[in-house]
Amino acid sequence: MLGSIIDILFPPVCPACEKAVRDKGKPLCASCEAGFSAIRIMRPICAVCGEPFISTTSGEHTCGPCLEQTPPFAMARSVYSYAGAALDAIHRFKYSNHLILAPAFADMLLRAVGDMPFPDMDVIVPVPLHAGKLRQRGFNQSLLICRGIAKKLKVDLSYDNLVRAKATLPQVNLKAAERAKNLTGAFALRFAPAFKGKRITIVDDVYTTGATIKECSKVLKKAGAEVYALTLARTVKL
Ligand SMILES: [Zn+2]
Ligand SMILES: [Zn+2]
Repeated sequence: MLGSIIDILFPPVCPACEKAVRDKGKPLCASCEAGFSAIRIMRPICAVCGEPFISTTSGEHTCGPCLEQTPPFAMARSVYSYAGAALDAIHRFKYSNHLILAPAFADMLLRAVGDMPFPDMDVIVPVPLHAGKLRQRGFNQSLLICRGIAKKLKVDLSYDNLVRAKATLPQVNLKAAERAKNLTGAFALRFAPAFKGKRITIVDDVYTTGATIKECSKVLKKAGAEVYALTLARTVKL
């Protein structure tokens, strides 16, 4: 009753475009929902890293790079291509402090994760930011997204065990090989035994070359965890 009065007085505005009214029970307005649907990653994808295959006739299999070098995670999945609506929204979220999008992103991941072959999780871990970067930005975007997911799934959220041990160059200007090198030794666990034998989902906003997710996964795997990676969007080769 009170909820519907509040809705009438303050119609729930879409957190992505801030123009239209969002649909009841949905995180965004119909037009933004359509924008996100258009860039949803579709099968067939690599069964391991989640990279979509260009040929839509091939069945699900393991991609060449994953066959060549088994990734440190058991499985990685992203919901959207890092383009169009997702690119705009993530940019606004991260660089324009549009934090109102965090619950919408958590909702999108929650809705998608049901269709992913992930087992039940013990712990959710956001990709950490270096303390300097955290001070500069004021928030860790991955942690904000994780909060909603952990709460809904009733899974432990761990944000202070995996830490960024060294400051690194911004990945954005680096090529794939440089990105991996730049991140070597960048992450560490404060107390590794806490993750032994745990099923962990590592969460980030974007999967670009996978260097960050892989480096975090390595550290978690070394501690004896089974790692699953979940990102809202990923860079897709077209
Ligand atoms: Zn909208
Ligand atoms: Zn793969």
